[in-house]
Amino acid sequence: MPKKAIYSKLIKEESKRLGFLSCGISKADFLEKEAPLLEKWLSKGMHGEMSYMEKNFDKRLDPRKLVNGAKSVISLLLNYYPSKTQNTNAPKISKYAYGKDYHFVIKNKLKNLLFFINEHIGEVKGRVFVDSAPVLDKAWAQKSGLGWIGKHTNLITKKTGSFYFIAELIVDIPLEYDNPVNEHCGTCTKCIDACPTSAIVSPYQLDAKKCISYLTIELKDNIPPHFVDKMDNWMFGCDVCQDVCPWNRYSKPHKEKEFSAKEELINYSMEEWEEMTEEVFNKVFKKSAVKRTKYKGLKRNIYYLKKQTKWQKP
Ligand code: SF4
Ligand code: SF4
Repeated sequence: MPKKAIYSKLIKEESKRLGFLSCGISKADFLEKEAPLLEKWLSKGMHGEMSYMEKNFDKRLDPRKLVNGAKSVISLLLNYYPSKTQNTNAPKISKYAYGKDYHFVIKNKLKNLLFFINEHIGEVKGRVFVDSAPVLDKAWAQKSGLGWIGKHTNLITKKTGSFYFIAELIVDIPLEYDNPVNEHCGTCTKCIDACPTSAIVSPYQLDAKKCISYLTIELKDNIPPHFVDKMDNWMFGCDVCQDVCPWNRYSKPHKEKEFSAKEELINYSMEEWEEMTEEVFNKVFKKSAVKRTKYKGLKRNIYYLKKQTKWQKP
């Protein structure tokens, strides 16, 4: 077996041991197909107030501009599908935010993987990425054969659906590379039809400004009045397009202790969320991704949910 193939095999085996769902590898190169699509998306202003998306345009499309001497992009998936979901009589939180902030959990695992590579393969320079720098993670995961990008713009796999995080390790050694898989959305349009705010403006195109995830997390201003009745009881993020995707019937609960939800998050009713003090917020969401919206942001979101013409008790 050529050395590159042995190294790739070792890395994939270790990633499994560390708890990743899957691992795929691509040559670090310019993302030719994605470049015009990203440019068009930005020029249409579909990124809303997320001005950081405009920065580092070149780096976003070429990992060699991000990491000196980059040769390979190792993409990894980490399952976050929970075994228990929230009380149905409560404002909703996206499943990815139930447990400890994924940035901490995944970074640790990636650092361990890089350490393993240095121990078993030789001196390798690398950099770990979890949402933290301009890397088009879905494009790299797709290139590496980990899944296909569905019409809702998330990565999907046939065996495990789409409830997982994507992370990358960019390294300066050549490895054996994987090939993309076929897409399996076919004629399905369930995600487009179910989106409460019509944010999936056409297949594979998301207007982030209209997405409930953006409105509840990224948007710092008030939620525009025409969205108030469309919030579908979400107070942090939104899972509708993933929940309706037929491939997610294959999602299996994660085994990551750190992603377990606090009892309060699962059991609180609307009244308890409404009455939540900042002190309780800090306790329930200690080291949680929900902290991103801060106490004030979560309270704002709850305020708007109560303003829905009819508070939609499920
Ligand atoms: S996350 Fe929700 S609002 Fe955003 S595209 Fe999916 S269904 Fe629509
Ligand atoms: S709901 Fe249907 S169209 Fe949307 S991502 Fe899933 S399979 Fe593709």
